[in-house]
Order: sequence, then structure tokens, then C-alpha cells
Amino acid sequence: MTSPTNSPHDVVIVGGGTAGLSAAVTLARSLRDVVVIDAGEPRNAPAAGAHNLLGREGIPPLELLEAGRREALAYGAQIHRGRASTARRTADGFELTLADGATVTARRLLLATGLVDELPDVPGVRELWGTQVLHCPYCHGYEVRGTRIGVIATGSNAVHQTLLLRQLSADVTLFLHEGPEPDDEAWDQLAALGVTVVIGQVRELARDGDRLRAVVLADGHSFAVDAVAVQPRFVARGDLYEQIGGTQTENPMGRHLTAGPTGATELPGVWAAGNAGDLSAMVGASAAQGVLAGAAINADLVMADVRVAVRERADRARVVGAGAAAGTNGLAGDFSPVMEARVAELVLGDRRHGFAVDG
Ligand SMILES: Cc1cc2nc3c(=O)[nH]c(=O)nc-3n(C[C@H](O)[C@H](O)[C@H](O)COP(=O)(O)OP(=O)(O)OC[C@H]3O[C@@H](n4cnc5c(N)ncnc54)[C@H](O)[C@@H]3O)c2cc1C
Repeated sequence: MTSPTNSPHDVVIVGGGTAGLSAAVTLARSLRDVVVIDAGEPRNAPAAGAHNLLGREGIPPLELLEAGRREALAYGAQIHRGRASTARRTADGFELTLADGATVTARRLLLATGLVDELPDVPGVRELWGTQVLHCPYCHGYEVRGTRIGVIATGSNAVHQTLLLRQLSADVTLFLHEGPEPDDEAWDQLAALGVTVVIGQVRELARDGDRLRAVVLADGHSFAVDAVAVQPRFVARGDLYEQIGGTQTENPMGRHLTAGPTGATELPGVWAAGNAGDLSAMVGASAAQGVLAGAAINADLVMADVRVAVRERADRARVVGAGAAAGTNGLAGDFSPVMEARVAELVLGDRRHGFAVDG
């Protein structure tokens, strides 16, 4: 970890999770001056392992990020532990202010800030989140296979989630709680798969220490379970994006930054990667999006620099032409070593070739 320098960087990445670090590696490998600002709160921190990650199956999430930081640093990226609190557009790019008062400037901005899981307000859910309370059958459904699973409905996705979990266990109970009443088709599906449906408000998750014991209803009825699934609302961390004029997209799952396939947003110079722009991206997809965004940003900077180089070259050629017409710059008259040297100097600068001329 380093302190960010104030010098303008090529790219500042906010967020050092899988998406941000993957982008940092891609950019640093393109010899870009890149700085990552990371508050150190990756979404899957409470989970024991990151699953569905080929080659690193089940690796503890923080261990994966530690390895990612080492890789990014080895290629020359800077990583700064801190929180970016404000962002503004400047003439040359962007300026971020960090919570500790430091400022960071860069030509391009990548927001890899992840999302916040807004959990149902049921006592016990937050305490067991990521261990025995889960949301994603692919992330940790296998780990609770064959056990007693309760689904606490809060959203329209609850029945679908129940059907997915039923693939992993024959003992699944759907607590309707605050979820919408299933339609006829859903009732048929739940009945056909032998899912127990419980009507009534859930009061709390009963626990023995840090072990989940039961789902308890408001009327006092208690149902023994080993794991519980919920449907959080997924809310991207989008405040910096809004500060520079971005508008977020609302969908039934939550809210996210609006980004295209390579992460480019509606705001010139601003990209998004990972859960900030894609609420359903898992670790592998977030990493892939980071790489894509990193490559797209590098290509954008390359083309910006190419445009400047072409313009400067054209300007130099115009000077030569004007000089020739006016008979100045040593370019007037017949061809001579002096004229050749002057033309090479004006057009090619340090890369010039041609006759060596003294004086
Ligand atoms: C409990 C749980 C278990 C999961 N298990 C799996 C699994 O097994 N397999 C799988 O593929 N996926 C899993 N996921 C999903 C996984 O967490 C996400 O896919 C992944 O974290 C997305 O990466 P990201 O880089 O977009 O965001 P994050 O990993 O959330 O990283 C975002 C980073 O940005 C930082 N940040 C945000 N705002 C700022 C700011 N203003 N300034 C500085 N830093 C900032 C945060 O502190 C954080 O470090 C799980 C999710 C949860 C909730």
C-alpha cells in the first residue's frame, strides 16, 4: 500500500475488489500509471470461500484479493487504502478527494466500487450473513446441500430462488413473510416439488451462539433450519458517479451504474466494472469485466495520445510549409544539406535523420 501521489495519473480506480484489481493488472501491464483507492470492504468478505472460480475454487475471498494486490503491485500499480469521498471533472480528467483529505487526479476514472446488499430487517439475518444466511445458490448453495433450508420471501424472486435451492436439498421451506403471494403456476411448482410453504410474518432467526437454529414467526411458531436464504436489494455504490453527473439504472433487483459491454458509461472518460455496473456479476465475471474495462481504457488513452501526436505533427508540417513559402526557417531556395537537416528536425524532432550539419 502506498500514499497516492498528487501527480496526474493515467487512471484512478476506485475499488480494489476483484474487478478493480483485475483492471489494475491489465492497465499496469500496458505500462499505465494507475492508482487504486480501496476502502477494503469487499462484498463477499464474510464468506469462507469464493466458489465457481476455476483454478482457485473455494479460496478465502481476502486471500484472493491479497494475491491480486501482489500481482498489481508487481507490475507497478499503486494501491492506496482509503475511501474516495468526492469526485469532480476537471479540464484534464478527474479529481478525487479521499476521506483523509488527500487528492488524486487522473485522466480516466474506473468505478469498481461494488454494491451493498440491503438485507431484510429480520433480527439474526445480518449476524449470520455470508455464513448460514445466503442469497446465491451458486455461491454457497453446495455448502448447504441436503440440509434444512428456509427461504424468507421479501421479493418477487423468492419462488425462483426456492426452486433453485430445491435442486440442492429435498427439505426446503418457503416463508412467505413479506413476499408477494405466489401465482397459480408458482403454487403448482412448489407443490410438485414438495416445498413446504409457511404463511406469516417472520420475527427472528433463533441462534445458539453463532449457529442458526430456527426461523421464528411473529406468532411464536418455530421451524428448525440449518440455513436460510434471503433476497437482498442490490444497491451499487454510485455516489461518486452521481457527483460527476451520472444517472443510475433501477431494476427489480436494485440499482446500478449504467455501463456497456466494455464498462464504458454514459460519461466520457468514466468506466464501471464488477457489481457497480452489473448486479449479478460473480467473482469470475467481475474479474473479466475489470480486464475488459482496463483494456478499453488503455485503448482510449492510446487513441487520445495518437490524436495529439497527429495534430502536433501536422502543426510542424504547416510551419515547414509556411516557412518555405515565406523563404524563412532556412528552407528557401534550392535543396541543400541545411534545408534537409531543418526539415528533418521540424518533422521528426529527436528521431530525425539526414545530413549532419555543423552550427
Ligand atoms: C456472502 C457472499 C458470498 C459470495 N460468494 C461468492 C462466491 O462464492 N463466488 C462468486 O463468484 N461470487 C460470490 N459472491 C459475489 C462476489 O462477492 C462479487 O461478485 C464480487 O465481490 C464483486 O467484485 P467487485 O470488485 O465488483 O466488488 P467488491 O468485491 O465488493 O469490491 C469493491 C471494493 O470497492 C471498495 N469501495 C467502494 N466504494 C469505495 C470508495 N468510495 N472508495 C474506496 N473504495 C471503495 C470496497 O471497499 C471494496 O473493497 C458472494 C457475495 C456475497 C455477498
